[in-house]
Parts: sequence; structure tokens; C-alpha cells
Amino acid sequence: MKSRSHRYRLFSEMLREVFFQAKGQWKYILVAALSILAISVLEFIIPQWTKVVIDQVIPEQQIAALFELGAAIVGAALLLGVFRFVSSFVMTIVSQGAISQLRNKLYRHTVNLDLNFFDRNRTGDLMSRLTSDVNQLQELVSADTLSIVADFFTFIAICGYLLYVDWQLALLLMSTFPFLFYTSRFFSGRIKSVYRTVRQSSAELSNHLQDTLSGIRVIKSFASENDEIDRFAGLTEINRASIVKASRLSASFPPIIEWLNYIGMTLVLLFGAWQAMHNHITVGDIVAYLAYLRLLQGPVRSFSRMVSKIQQASAAYERIHEVLVTVPAVRNKERAIILPPIQGEILFDNVDFAYEKGVPVLENFYLQIEPQQVTALVGSSGSGKSTIAHLIARLYDVQKGAIFIDGYPLTDVTLESLRTQIGIVSQDVILLNGTIRDNIAYGKPQATREEIEAAARAANALAFIEAFPQGYDTLVGERGVKLSGGQKQRLSIARALLKNPRLIILDEATAALDTESEQLIQSALSTLLPGRTCLVIAHRLSTIQSADHIVVLEKGRIVEAGTHEGLLTLSGRYKTLYDKQFPQMIKEKETLLA
Ligand code: ADP
Ligand code: MG
Repeated sequence: MKSRSHRYRLFSEMLREVFFQAKGQWKYILVAALSILAISVLEFIIPQWTKVVIDQVIPEQQIAALFELGAAIVGAALLLGVFRFVSSFVMTIVSQGAISQLRNKLYRHTVNLDLNFFDRNRTGDLMSRLTSDVNQLQELVSADTLSIVADFFTFIAICGYLLYVDWQLALLLMSTFPFLFYTSRFFSGRIKSVYRTVRQSSAELSNHLQDTLSGIRVIKSFASENDEIDRFAGLTEINRASIVKASRLSASFPPIIEWLNYIGMTLVLLFGAWQAMHNHITVGDIVAYLAYLRLLQGPVRSFSRMVSKIQQASAAYERIHEVLVTVPAVRNKERAIILPPIQGEILFDNVDFAYEKGVPVLENFYLQIEPQQVTALVGSSGSGKSTIAHLIARLYDVQKGAIFIDGYPLTDVTLESLRTQIGIVSQDVILLNGTIRDNIAYGKPQATREEIEAAARAANALAFIEAFPQGYDTLVGERGVKLSGGQKQRLSIARALLKNPRLIILDEATAALDTESEQLIQSALSTLLPGRTCLVIAHRLSTIQSADHIVVLEKGRIVEAGTHEGLLTLSGRYKTLYDKQFPQMIKEKETLLA
């Protein structure tokens, strides 16, 4: 349970945040505010003219004044429309400006957060913070909000006037307001919450559709169509029921409000008539009263709507705020230096690291990687190989000890100067929506055509790229062609090559490939490696036999290290791994030759 003061602080911070973003547009806000002021004045005046017609023009038969007043009312109503349009349109400009700035700010902040944050938060949840939660806040910077301020003054002015004319009638009329206020608050709260369930159930429906339609092969191969049909029917039913419930509420709301309005009207009419019979007020007063009653009912309802709007916005802002106050643990420290071009000597000096507290992955870890050599890391899965790659790129910070690159502590250099010198090719290649060219040039958008082609050639990707009718302009990713694992892998090697990194990390880059693609990639890599420092992480030992130095890792500890031959003669862990894989390697070679 959040304390009251915490909620209040959050609320004032939200107003500051939203209106700070809107601040640059004060001219628009001024225009909208003036229009709203004009609206209040016009709304107050029109019933006065009605009263004049009834109490003065009719008894005294002033035909000319009749036309004048008629024209005035028509003209005023027209102006009323113009001001309403101006205020709501101008405020949309302001709110959209403020909201898109806030959204950009949130996105900038989110993208700059470290991987640890993304490990802890689900993508879907972050997406909804950036979209629907930000949209919620938009409602705060709207013409409704401005007009509520104006409404408040109109409300006070009209109430004062009514009390002045006939305080008994005025009190009677006002006695209906609390009912109106609480009824609409009750309904708008309930309606919002049932619509939230409607939104949730619709989202679940579309999640289910997305999962099952994109995974249709699995469903068919397990013959589980009927299970999915039943599950879908269940979700459809939840969705249907929630929509019916929502519309029952939202359909009963206007009639109830209408009825309350009529009760107010009837009270004014009956008591007003009685007062008029005793000559306390005029007939014109009654008509004006009825008009003001309608005018006052609007603000009462919008006050109550505003209360729930603010509650909604606060809840949304709380979720936005959580992201905004998260400071990435991995960030440039003050006065971080720019890492000069590296040789690639890496030292893990007594490092402790855990992704989650209490689950250490590396402890007292020591590892030295020589510059301009190929170092291989082997070990069973889960032994911490990828973790070492992540730590070198400083995707996470270590808890104890330090990592040095060419003698510089990683934490002393800027993230950008470090990461631009490292090329990582990993097992699961992520291609972005776009062309083959975009994907190769991702780390270096200004690359020339020649550079891109040279990278593709070196990565052994030239042949298959040129076989596409559109060559480098072929679209890949969700909406483009389907590439095989080996083709994607070669694109990612070309991408790493183009960056011309001094340090290359291949994290099981060939593990998922068949032998033929693996050999293509091996030969691509042999052009990539000379003159650079390379860390090869491999599950398959065939890929690393020629490495200068092989490190065998188990459960976050180095159990053996040496060259291929040296390790074989040790008859230790490496030999066991090798013996397990060797027969299989011979078989693979045979099928390749056949
Ligand atoms: P390898 O690459 O050798 O298969 P990893 O370095 O990926 O092993 O993983 C080492 C250990 O760290 C494993 O126990 C794994 O479950 C854990 N781990 C890896 N990534 C994360 C993460 N993002 N969050 C929490 N634990 C992780
Ligand atoms: Mg791994």
C-alpha cells in the first residue's frame, strides 16, 4: 500500500512532468484558455437574454428588441461553437506535442538502460508503458482539463448569481448535485474498470492468435488443433462476457443521469412556479434557472470524470516513473576516457559475477587472453562461456574484481568506444526488418557499396545474396524472404566484418549449422581472424582445434588450458569431450565426401 504522501508526490511530479513538456507551447495554451473564458462568458449571457425576452420584451411588445435579441443569441451560439472548436483543437496540438516529447524521453531512457533491466522486465510490459500508459497521460493535457478550470469559475459565478436571485430555489437546485457527482463518479470508475478487462481479454485473444498461427506447424505435428480450438473458445467467451458487462454499465449510465437531471428540473419548475405565484420571482427567472441548471449539470459531471481521469493517469504515471527513475548500473562514469584502438589483450582479474544475487556464475575468476591470437573457450552448456563474452562487451558489470582491456579497466572507458571495437557473432542471429544491405551496414550506416560487398564476399555470402533477384535490396526479417540459418549467420559475420573490429567474439556462431554451412563459415572466418584478437566459444571441438590457446570451463571455473595437442595428452576433461565427439565428426566428414 502506497502512502498518501508518496501518492501526492507522484501526482505533483506527474503534473510537473506533463506540463513541463507542454511549457514550450504556452502561446497555444493561452489561445485555448482565452477561448474557454469566452465560452464561459457566452454561456452565462445567453440565458440572461432569454430572461429579458420573457420578462421585458413580451409584456412590453418590443418587436425590434425581439429581433435584436434573436440575432444576438444566434450570433453568440455561433461564436460558442467557434471557441469550442478552437479550444479543443489547439489543446490537441499542445497535448500531442507534450505527449510525444514524453514518449521520446521515455524511449531514450529505456533504450539506454542496461541488460539487467531487460532481464527483469517483460517486453510486452515495457511496450505498454511506452504506448498505453503514455496515452493515459495525454488525457490530462486536454481541453477538458482547461475547461474544468473555467467550469469551476463559471460554476461559482452561476451559483452565486442563483443564490442572489432566490437562495431557496438555488439551494434546492444545488441539492441534486452531490447525487449527480457521486453517480457519475461511481459509473465512470466502474466503466473504466470493465473496459480494462475488455482490453485485457482482447489482448489475450490476439496473443493467442499470434502464438497459434505462427506456431501452426507445432500444433499440427502434435495434432492438438482441437485443444487450441477449445482454448480459443474459452478466451472468446471471456471476451464476449466482458463486453456485454461493459455495455450493460455504459448503457445504463446516460438514462440514470438523464433521470437525475429531470428530477432537478422538476424541482426547479415546481418550486419556481410556487415562488412565481407569490411574485417572489418572474417567469423569466424560472426559464433562466432551468437553463443554468443544464449548464451546471455539465461541470458537475465533468468534475467527477476528472477525478477518475486523474486516478487513471496517476496509475499510468507510476508505471512510467518506475522506468524513468531506474538508473542503469552499466553506464559511462564521469570523465570516462575514450578507449584508443586496442590490441585486444584481456584480463579477468579475480572476478565475481552473478546475474541474480545468490546465484554466482563466476567466482574468483582469472583469465588472460593474449592479443592477436585465437583463444578458444569450451565447456558444457551453462558453464559460463557466453557470460564471459557479455562481460567483455560490458553488457553487465562485475560485482568483484575487474576486467582490463589493454590494461584499461573496462569501467574507465566509454561504452561506445569499447563496443565499437568489439564484434560479436552469436548463435541466434537477429536480423532487423529491412534489406540485406541495411542489415550488413547496421553497425556502420555510412558504409559504401564497395565496403558492403567486400564484407559480404569475405563472409562467403556474396553468392547467395546475388542469387536473389533484388540482390542487396532484398527484404529480410518478418516481412521479407526467409533465410536459412547458415545464410543468416553469414550475414551476421559480414555485419561484424564491416565494423572492422579489433576484437572478435564468436559465441557458438556455428553450433546450429550443418557441416557444409559450418565449413563455409569456417573459411569465411579464416579471412576475418588474422591480425585481430579472437575469442571463439564453441561447443563443437572441430571448430577450435587450430586455436592458439584453448581454455576448458566448467561451472564457472577453468579446469584445463593449453593447445589442442597438449590438452589431449593431459587425458582430462578436454580429452573426454573430444572422445565423445570424435566418432561423430568422422561420420560427418564421410557424409560430406559421399
Ligand atoms: P554457456 O554460454 O556456457 O552455455 P551462460 O554463460 O549462458 O553459459 O550461462 C551461465 C549461467 O548463467 C547459467 O547457469 C545460466 O542459467 C545463467 N544465466 C545466463 N544468462 C542469464 C541471465 N540473463 N539472467 C540470469 N541468469 C543467466
Ligand atoms: Mg552460451
